[in-house]
Amino acid sequence: MQTHILGYPRIGSNRELKKACEQYWSGKTSLQELLETGRNICQQNWKTQQEAGIDLIPCNDFSYYDQVLDMTLTVGAIPKRYNEVMLKTSNSELDLYFAMARGYQKDDLDITAMEMTKWFDTNYHYIVPEFYKNQEFKLFSSKIVNEFVGAKQAGINAKPVIIGLVSYLLLGKEKEEGFDKLDLAPKLLPVYIEILQELQTQGAEWIQFDEPFLALDLSEKAKETYQFIYNEIRKKFPKLKFIVTTYFEGLKDNLSLANILPLDALHIDLVRCEEQLDDVLNTLPKNRILSLGVVDGRNIWKNDFEKSLQLIKKVTDKLGSEKTFIASSCSLLHSPCDLDLEISLDTDIKQWLSFAKQKLTEVSLLKELSENTSDENILNAYEENKKAIANRKSSALIHHNDVKLRVDSINETDSRRKNSFLIRKEAQEKVLNLPLFPTTTIGSFPQTKEVRSWRAQFKKGILSSEDYKYLLKEETQKTIQWQEKIGLDVLVHGEYERNDMVEYFGEQLAGVTFTKKGWVQSYGSRCVKPPIIYGDVHRPHPMTVYWSQYAQSLTDKWVKGMLTGPVTILQWSFVRDDQPRSITCQQIALAIRDEVRDLENAGIRIIQIDEPAIREGLPLRKSGWNDYLKWAIEAFKISSCGVNDATQIHTHMCYSEFNDIIQSIAEMDADVITIECSRSQMELLNAFADFKYPNEIGPGVYDIHSPRVPSKEEMVELLQKAQKVIPASRLWVNPDCGLKTRHWDETEKALIAMVSASKEASLSY
Ligand code: GLN
Ligand code: ZN
Repeated sequence: MQTHILGYPRIGSNRELKKACEQYWSGKTSLQELLETGRNICQQNWKTQQEAGIDLIPCNDFSYYDQVLDMTLTVGAIPKRYNEVMLKTSNSELDLYFAMARGYQKDDLDITAMEMTKWFDTNYHYIVPEFYKNQEFKLFSSKIVNEFVGAKQAGINAKPVIIGLVSYLLLGKEKEEGFDKLDLAPKLLPVYIEILQELQTQGAEWIQFDEPFLALDLSEKAKETYQFIYNEIRKKFPKLKFIVTTYFEGLKDNLSLANILPLDALHIDLVRCEEQLDDVLNTLPKNRILSLGVVDGRNIWKNDFEKSLQLIKKVTDKLGSEKTFIASSCSLLHSPCDLDLEISLDTDIKQWLSFAKQKLTEVSLLKELSENTSDENILNAYEENKKAIANRKSSALIHHNDVKLRVDSINETDSRRKNSFLIRKEAQEKVLNLPLFPTTTIGSFPQTKEVRSWRAQFKKGILSSEDYKYLLKEETQKTIQWQEKIGLDVLVHGEYERNDMVEYFGEQLAGVTFTKKGWVQSYGSRCVKPPIIYGDVHRPHPMTVYWSQYAQSLTDKWVKGMLTGPVTILQWSFVRDDQPRSITCQQIALAIRDEVRDLENAGIRIIQIDEPAIREGLPLRKSGWNDYLKWAIEAFKISSCGVNDATQIHTHMCYSEFNDIIQSIAEMDADVITIECSRSQMELLNAFADFKYPNEIGPGVYDIHSPRVPSKEEMVELLQKAQKVIPASRLWVNPDCGLKTRHWDETEKALIAMVSASKEASLSY
């Protein structure tokens, strides 16, 4: 029996890599210093794994930005627009690499970055490979071999982690018409072979090919490509040992395909899909090793040893322990680094948790325990594990009967407005009295340096709660007055009191806690610290009423209340695994429902519930979509449907292709939805038009992700385009998303132009 993990976090326990990269980018440190930091992190990670007793230690799981971009550079799939950058950066591969990741604006060049998108259903973002019709590949970077050699010098015969060829192609995007990316496989194969050749020469024994697509819905062509590629690779390397890893889903209908690939080992994710184990065991080819992903790489809960040992025993009974590997379910990239650094976490909660470093020990202990050790320390560790698991199951911190009873008594009327949209619209028109093409914004206004520094000072205790509140009130007041002055119709308070749209609510909800250093890489040097939902969620007190009511008291115009929806709070947190996600979501939904009602009682007549993450929660396989959409949409409706007809509910979504889920968006039955639209020149609106979306829509008329100020004319043009597909009486005018990352000067100019665009559109209507 051997232990391994699929990859380890590379940001460093104190975000050393983030800091080193950002300093290098800003010109404060040298390339040598950055490389030194990178090397130290690799060494440290290897050492940590060695000490924890991991047998097959990965290499090439390190990356200065993203592992997919590493592969793109390795196989020389460098888009032509970087040719000139290549000349400028000719003596540093890493500078070219960063230019591809972040764009290049120097030496009279202005070259855009490569596109970035989410890594499956995680919050990690990868750089999307670009493929062209006459795409050529050649071995460009020797990063993989270098890391292997680096590990060898540290005394480790490491297992290089390489994105499998088929998954690499499937992760990319055709940038021209007239070809299929999978057709590039034969051209890419020689580069993979060259890499493997070099690794073999250097003494590599095991190679890990990550093939997450093998656990997703596959086309026939993709299945054929899998067979072709792995047969070719095997022919060339009869002695290298190949482990193909799958994760985030089960093999399901692709199991027979996985079984005919000529592999030495297959890795399956038993956290996400335990059901697949019996089928896999019953059909596994003779002599193949099965790697059991039992330690959750995506979440932060301590492994339940008793349960894992049962699974492991089932496998060893059938295959023998020499044919069994024990592993993390996926790369530990998605876990925070080290629980030991959390010195102020509640000690009860802390004993239920395990971060990347602790997960290494779990993997090792599971091996020892399944080999019937008599080592006292290990047996003690088992007892402690049982105690922690039992403690969590029965803890008073987690279980709140009132919350459970309330969830049980949710009935159909809770997720239905009292009347249909048309009746509500009439009631709302009477109260709200808004013009044609009403103007509004998505919620946040610029979070200036001052606002951030007040919060930092308040958190450190330098600024008193009263002083902090006073400053925020002043800022809110200025913002309200300014919005009135430029003639916006529906105002917002500006969200100055919020650090982040999920964290703000998480901090106030019971059943949710926070770490100090639980950072996880989101993209490049950006890390996030997701809240931990550990128990039954409820709302001890109103969370936003104070600020909305204060803002409303300053003006005769309507101020829109601003909330984050239950699905988005769930999606951007570490979620408890002891009950279905749908139930946790219902609990959050009830808390938001109470907040919505309190806002209504406080006189707020327009309430926006943001759900930007609804689409990213879609299961990876289509077969899971209906179930998810059913409970996700219901949760939104539980949160939004407790109000009177005359109260107008808004929602907001961004980063989305809406086509797939337009039916569900319509079922959400928000009176108004604002969406990100401008970068696609209103094309995203077509999904709504084609579907004959019945309620009101505010398609974003300008892109808030860039400092560029849009002209009135271009926004008028976009509005005209929108009117062609959506009746004018149902259109709103707003930016694409919140303005918190923008500066005031850009914001002022852009919104003034937006208001006059709305006026002009309504004059010429
Ligand atoms: N109300 C939030 C804001 O304006 C919405 C942010 C988002 O959609 N990501 O910042
Ligand atoms: Zn948004």
